[in-house]
Amino acid sequence: MPDIDTLLRRYLRAQVLAGTAYHVPDSEGLIKLDAMENPYTLPAELRRAWLEALAEVDLNRYPDPQARALSVALRARLGLSADTGLLLGNGSDELIQLLSIAFAGSGKPALAPAPSFVMYKVLAEAVGLDFIGVPLGADFALDRDAMLDAIARHEPGLIYLAYPNNPTGNLFDDETMHAILRAAPGVVVIDEAYSAFSSKSFLPILSRYDNLLLMRTLSKQGLAGLRLGLLMGAPAWIEQLDKLRLPYNINSLTQVSAVCLLRHQDVLDAQVRAILEERDRLFRALTRLPGVMAYPSEANFISFRVGAGRGDALFQALREDGILIKNLGANTALSDCLRVTVGTPEENAAFLQVLEKHL
Ligand SMILES: *Cc1c(COP(=O)(O)O)cnc(C)c1O
Repeated sequence: MPDIDTLLRRYLRAQVLAGTAYHVPDSEGLIKLDAMENPYTLPAELRRAWLEALAEVDLNRYPDPQARALSVALRARLGLSADTGLLLGNGSDELIQLLSIAFAGSGKPALAPAPSFVMYKVLAEAVGLDFIGVPLGADFALDRDAMLDAIARHEPGLIYLAYPNNPTGNLFDDETMHAILRAAPGVVVIDEAYSAFSSKSFLPILSRYDNLLLMRTLSKQGLAGLRLGLLMGAPAWIEQLDKLRLPYNINSLTQVSAVCLLRHQDVLDAQVRAILEERDRLFRALTRLPGVMAYPSEANFISFRVGAGRGDALFQALREDGILIKNLGANTALSDCLRVTVGTPEENAAFLQVLEKHL
């Protein structure tokens, strides 16, 4: 009988053996400004209404496989027409995984600008779908020529555009986005994970392109724990992807919670407004700090660059003083870049104070 290492090497794909599990840093006891979470919890009254809705759930039964009540609520909320397809995922991460599975084996790669959301590459390669990253240009703008050249050369079946982009926070140029939509041989997924904080969206013109899928999530606007993502677009695409979805991917508690909380959207909207005000304040404060270059953001985080060679040390110093942010420096295009999620006024003040002390 061969030993277990021999068996692993014999039967697992090289991508699996070479990969690493998604690492979430321990945040216990720290001010958590690393993961684009909304810092506010639900007000007590809404929390009670939500718990009452949850108490009605029959956990002995499987969830509604089509999540019908939730789909109706989401369609109404987004103003989706009946001829727009809607697919729900266990977070948009699951939708990215589903897209990866659907396009793997086609012989054509997935493509996205780089740096962008890491899961596009991770989940593509996990299922043997090649991934092409096209470097962003100056100020993290799309490099129009490089994108169009790469699309012509690689003929990607799947293109991701995060709008606004994570981890850079900016929106891409409209005309370049449209040029990519026209040039794409397959589908273009515009990932609007930060739509609640952004001044622009492609939702109003979704039906203009047959090859456009729009992805959103409830995570960044206050419901990260629910795990609920949305993919919208032409029903022909959505129907194919739906074949690959696990039957009960949206659990009963998530379905009931989301329906209940969408009825109280005003609470989440007020939280978003508070975060937007804080984003502006935080941006102005970062810009005033010597040696800090903050990048304008249309999301609920701000990425900033510090002095050459200082990024890792600053990240560590902040953590030792109780503030957890994200170190982006492992990516060469983001050397000495750090990313802070917009927190409460108190959390942001604590972050700024500690940062200033260590600069
Ligand atoms: C956070 C994020 C996601 C994932 O969101 P979930 O719905 O929580 O899985 C997707 N895309 C981008 C660009 C993100 O920043």
